[in-house]
Amino acid sequence: MDSRTDLLSGRPVASGARSNVLRPDGDSDYSTGMRYVFAPPPHSAVRIVGSTGWFPVHRIYCVARNYPDHAKEMGSSGREPPFFFMKPADTVLSVAEGETGVLRYPSLTRELHHELELVVAMREGGASLTPADAQRCIYGYAVGLDMTRRDLQTEMKRLGRPWSIAKAFDRSAPVGGITPAAWIEDISKVEITLDVNGVRRQQGSVGDLIWSIPEIIARLSEAWEIKPGDLIFTGTPAGVGPVGPSDLMTANGTDLAELRVRVMRA
Ligand code: MN
Repeated sequence: MDSRTDLLSGRPVASGARSNVLRPDGDSDYSTGMRYVFAPPPHSAVRIVGSTGWFPVHRIYCVARNYPDHAKEMGSSGREPPFFFMKPADTVLSVAEGETGVLRYPSLTRELHHELELVVAMREGGASLTPADAQRCIYGYAVGLDMTRRDLQTEMKRLGRPWSIAKAFDRSAPVGGITPAAWIEDISKVEITLDVNGVRRQQGSVGDLIWSIPEIIARLSEAWEIKPGDLIFTGTPAGVGPVGPSDLMTANGTDLAELRVRVMRA
């Protein structure tokens, strides 16, 4: 059939050529007209409090050692410049308020650790942002867990190798529902807590961050252009520790949605 036209360009589709139009088998992206050789995986996204909409995840940045007491327990001191690592967007495990996410105990580790963190969700971005600009780019906040294969991280540190295998495994980034920034009066007054099986393991105040949220974003934006959809894990307070199969992690933050995650046997 030679009379087909491409819905995007309006041009006739050459005989024998395939159209860019979204096909029932889902192998094209209507928004870009790109034709993929197989259906691309769904975009990673996180639930939003009070909305049926989803926050589309672009990248996940993480800050290491950003609370004084945790920096000490990991062997550093003072106000060293923040350093960063990343998790792929599809490591996010979005858990809506009132639901319990499931995290299978990951392979290759005998020391799966929780790290309770405030997560910042970006709606705008840019390069070399000032802290004031960075503040205006924030969409909202959530509690999250930077799950870590601690034994592998210790080994990789010892060998001077990258941390990816310790930090960037599948489902290593559980995130609760995102609360819009406008609903939170003063983020520096937010307290975050983590209970495991009802016992308090970690607590911290966002006001105690060594590098404030706008400072972190500004620093990050010197190295990478911040984009809408970026999530930033801002560091963990003291008290990181192990979890095992059947443990229930419950993370909370003042005015933020509760995040519940159950660890399941591998
Ligand atoms: Mn962390």
